[in-house]
Amino acid sequence: MIAPVNKIIDHSVVDGPGNRTAVFFQGCPFRCQYCHNPETMALCTHCGACVSACPAGALSLREGKVHWEEALCVGCDSCLRACPHLSSPKVKEMTVEEILLRIQQNRPFIRGITCSGGECTLYAGFMAELFAKTKAMGLTNLIDSNGILDFSQADALLEHADGVMLDIKCFDRAGHIRLTGKDNDLVLQNAAYLAQRGLLPEVRTVIIPGALPNEETVALVSRLLAPYQANGPIRYKLIAFRPMGVREEFRSFPVPSRAEMESLAALAREQGMADVAIV
Ligand code: SF4
Ligand code: SF4
Repeated sequence: MIAPVNKIIDHSVVDGPGNRTAVFFQGCPFRCQYCHNPETMALCTHCGACVSACPAGALSLREGKVHWEEALCVGCDSCLRACPHLSSPKVKEMTVEEILLRIQQNRPFIRGITCSGGECTLYAGFMAELFAKTKAMGLTNLIDSNGILDFSQADALLEHADGVMLDIKCFDRAGHIRLTGKDNDLVLQNAAYLAQRGLLPEVRTVIIPGALPNEETVALVSRLLAPYQANGPIRYKLIAFRPMGVREEFRSFPVPSRAEMESLAALAREQGMADVAIV
């Protein structure tokens, strides 16, 4: 089994609790306007447009496919900026065993692994196999997802998973479609299903003043999830929009003030959420 991997961060403290190895898979069906790593959205078409942008000679076209010479790469990301297809020439097709080798090297220093993306659940079968092996190593397994997989039909994946960190980007269906290109029916269904099973340690909403119905989303997400906290703790993380890495055309969204974030956090608490964090 193979899957496209954008990158692996050996030691991350921002992708779940403790020190974790984070695996970022390539490809996502959403097209969120505020995405800060849009180069993970699509699979490479091997168009070759990035090759001439590389100042280090690390890219070439060979038999119709772009080739990345990792040893020559200086990590300048010019190729990502040049790509017209929201992709990266640095994506690797990896096997479960290859990823496990990286994880084994990190084993003494990590509490677990987190699969992220892109949207990692596009590769649910691959992840189920990876999780079975990492669980046997005594590690915890977390999934960072936008909620496009029907988790009620994903028992093989959840069998060895310790939880899902779920994005709820907008509660209003039409607003969600405007922001991401897709509706949120399954996202909200998943939120309730996972919370009821005690498998929802974290939910995140990005806050953009004026551009999104922030108050409505925070209030309704909190109201939906609060009754399930008895089944397992749920941290509601409110993330202030920041323009870093965002596509040029969406970089001018306003950044919320600390006071605006505090007010939304208070609203979430009023609606019954015990653990609210501002990032
Ligand atoms: S990041 Fe991309 S453009 Fe920069 S050196 Fe590496 S391959 Fe070349
Ligand atoms: S990374 Fe982008 S620009 Fe480079 S070959 Fe692939 S699709 Fe084309």
